[in-house]
Amino acid sequence: MTPLAIGLVYDLLGSYPRQPSDPPDVDAEYEPEQTVRALEAAIRRLGHQPVRIGNPEALLARIGKGELPPLDAALNIAEGRGGRNREAWAPVLLEMAGVPTLGSDALTLSLTLDKAWALTLVSDAAVPVPKRAVIGTVDGAKSAALPSSFPLFVKPRWEGTSKGITAASKVADRDALARAVERIRRVYDQPALVEEFLPGAEYTVTVVGNDPPRALPVVQRAIDAETGIGVHALEAEARPDDDRSDRSVVPGELTPELEAQLADLALRAYTALDCVDFARADFKCDRDGGVRFLEMNPLPTFAPDGTFGVLAELEGRPLEALLAEVIAGGLQRLGLAASPAATDSQRRDWHWQMRNRIRSADDLERFVRTTADERAAIDALADRFHFVITPYYAALMDPDDPDCPIRRQVVPRSAELDDPVGWDPLDEVAHSPVKNVIRVYPDRIAFCVNNECALYCRFCLRKRMVGEPDWTMKKRELATALDWIRATPEIRDVLLTGGDPLVFSDDRLEWLLAKLRAIPHVEIIRLGTRLPVTLPYRVTDELCRMLERYHPIWVNTHFNHPKELTPEAAAACDRLTRAGIPVGNQSVLMAGINDRVDVMKQLCEGLVRMRVRPYYCYQAQMLEGTAHFRVPIERGIEIFRALRGRTSGFAIPQYVLDTPYGKVPLAHPYLRGRDGDEVVVESYDGRIWREPNPTDDDA
Ligand code: SF4
Repeated sequence: MTPLAIGLVYDLLGSYPRQPSDPPDVDAEYEPEQTVRALEAAIRRLGHQPVRIGNPEALLARIGKGELPPLDAALNIAEGRGGRNREAWAPVLLEMAGVPTLGSDALTLSLTLDKAWALTLVSDAAVPVPKRAVIGTVDGAKSAALPSSFPLFVKPRWEGTSKGITAASKVADRDALARAVERIRRVYDQPALVEEFLPGAEYTVTVVGNDPPRALPVVQRAIDAETGIGVHALEAEARPDDDRSDRSVVPGELTPELEAQLADLALRAYTALDCVDFARADFKCDRDGGVRFLEMNPLPTFAPDGTFGVLAELEGRPLEALLAEVIAGGLQRLGLAASPAATDSQRRDWHWQMRNRIRSADDLERFVRTTADERAAIDALADRFHFVITPYYAALMDPDDPDCPIRRQVVPRSAELDDPVGWDPLDEVAHSPVKNVIRVYPDRIAFCVNNECALYCRFCLRKRMVGEPDWTMKKRELATALDWIRATPEIRDVLLTGGDPLVFSDDRLEWLLAKLRAIPHVEIIRLGTRLPVTLPYRVTDELCRMLERYHPIWVNTHFNHPKELTPEAAAACDRLTRAGIPVGNQSVLMAGINDRVDVMKQLCEGLVRMRVRPYYCYQAQMLEGTAHFRVPIERGIEIFRALRGRTSGFAIPQYVLDTPYGKVPLAHPYLRGRDGDEVVVESYDGRIWREPNPTDDDA
């Protein structure tokens, strides 16, 4: 490999002479010398040659004098100085000099620095953001419509995270708001961004890489107990002797589900803002734990005591090793180096699978040759229903056949745009005594404990809720549902469904199972999960050992096609059955996927070989975007009639139509009726049998 010359553009603390008009925290986001050394070590680790350039002014001077050394690429972490486009200085100069640049481009850097614009773009990608208003003058502060009631939070519109924030940024009334706006106008010479004040926990998610990007573990930040403001944001105003650690708190619990939600939102925001290679997304929670995106920083610090340093320590490796991986990903994006493929053990890790899910047509292109219709539908349906697929499931697709039954279940098609017929065909919301508890029968409920799935099926009955933040079950809401179950003694059978309950961490699921088991009248707990099909690595030995503690537990999973019966899926079902858990299957009858006798027979017999009992096959429901999947009920009945007598009886699921009044079995009328003292029936092969049949009067 020929070593590459990689320029480093950065601003060190003290690299710009201070001006009298500078804000007190003007250099708050510049880097220490150790950062540059760590980056040099990372570049050398990759076998390349680091070349120090300095700050954007030094870069400009070298270009102007024709003294810029030959560079194969440059890594930009320079913040620039003053003005809304300062972060774009270096990438614009590098672009003009024809040097490919690692890190986001000039437009993304300007856009993300302007927090008001960034919030608007990110909220368009269905990422929750704070209510907000831009207020540019003191008069405006006295009269403008406010985004919410007091307290409000006031910050400069285009400064980094920790700049311009003081304890007085949280304002309780109009006078304080006017003072805060006046300060931002006077000290920072820009409008203020005024947001609803979010008093809850604060998190930061680092995202790295491309095609697809991945979220690194979430880092929780301490909050100043007095003000509820993030301690890191207040650091720039702290005096050297002012130790905030004794009055900082870390509220809230970073559960695996919350971590998954934050990672998902961070990836959405990263994509929405066209970030590349690396960035850091900051979030804060409201009083109820609802997450809001605050800002994206595509120039995060690489300082040893910054987030990357913390993440490297968590992973037990040197900072340089983590930075080398990030740089290698950027070089690969630029076509300058090959990046190592995921290892087999990574692919078998369900967390890795969740982090590396496919979310765009470009991601999908790594697995299949996408059609124009698929690409157009992915774009057109982006706001209607989530497009997310696990790499495991995507690898089952036929790359050349758009009619592949795996592909059709999860890849959008423009046919979905043609039938807007509603979102809740079973009237589940009306059947919910409390949020996400659906009661159709007297003795059992479907309890939608989670709105997340590993992937999203185009035919999903619960399109209205899966992946939608409004349907997230906060712990408080789960507790309310548990209270309702506790107070309703008729309920003996609880189906945990969603979304998918196995997207929960083991700890979260165990918390729920323990609460349910403590309710004496709950006899059976069932889990409705598609993860044995779509992400079988989730069914770990640890999960099964945990489930065993809460018997009787039953699992119903959801295979639709024999291609899904992989060795990995069989191993997942085997682990469950060895843990004493009966596993059943509920499929959906879908046109072009499993609406043929031979396909259905292969599916059902394959399931039985895996010790999975075919339980129900549902008629596809009438809901938006699913008309092209629907099969006439008469044909469905014929398919299951054709199986009768031609395979084991327990390999034939009951074909049912779900209705707001419960499930209705759909079957060929084998019972023809009574004829005198006999009942007339039809055998599987159409022959008629007359069976002597007593009447009640004979008894
Ligand atoms: S896994 Fe189940 S709940 Fe999730 S999208 Fe697919 S069908 Fe819907």
